[in-house]
Amino acid sequence: MKLVVLGPPGAGKGSLAMAIKAATGVAHISTGDLLREEMKNESDLGLEAKKFIDSGDLVPDELVTRLVENKLKSDSTLDKGYMLDGFPRTEVQAKDLNRILKGLEKELDYAIYLEASLPIILKRLTGRRVCRNCGALFHMTNKLPKQEGVCDQCGGELYQRADDNEETIKTRMDVYLKNTKPITDYYRGSGILKEIDGDAQTEDLQRVLTQIFDGR
Ligand code: AMP
Repeated sequence: MKLVVLGPPGAGKGSLAMAIKAATGVAHISTGDLLREEMKNESDLGLEAKKFIDSGDLVPDELVTRLVENKLKSDSTLDKGYMLDGFPRTEVQAKDLNRILKGLEKELDYAIYLEASLPIILKRLTGRRVCRNCGALFHMTNKLPKQEGVCDQCGGELYQRADDNEETIKTRMDVYLKNTKPITDYYRGSGILKEIDGDAQTEDLQRVLTQIFDGR
């Protein structure tokens, strides 16, 4: 199964991707995670990306596409399938991805589109905490860890992402509406778009996963 997961920040792309990974075993590639890893390692790419990420803007297409292309070409675990989370985010990225995947004979089966409303997005993102070690997601009201500041799954330290503050979230939403939302039409046109209501995620998620696995 080869998927991209699209949607505004806070729609639940990461949680959906983790659920699909648990159900199917396909690899989860988050460009946000790849970029944060580059930042942590203080690579040239990471240092270049940091200023865009901290302000809520998009990292330039060529930097992110290069990162994804390298991953797709070098990681043999992706032969069983993959799920791209947070990529593509612009029409240029969508077209480049199409070209890269054609060349690798790994073309997409589905583009999953998660929609969510702004009040829910703000609530989700301002309360979100992430495990520094394994990436597990928690929430200060909806999904509290058993012990404050500690990951239930691996004991790692929980932190709040620097871009999960109200001001940066609003910029990220504007950037999403301008650059990313239009690419849903691109995938709708190729007949592979599956839409999920991110506000009412649990049942809808189940429905879409069932449709996908039934091949409908
Ligand atoms: P995420 O973890 O998906 O919310 O991404 C965090 C930040 O990383 C975004 O706000 C962007 O600054 C950057 N980023 C992630 N994926 C992309 C992408 N496909 N294109 C450009 N910037 C990206």
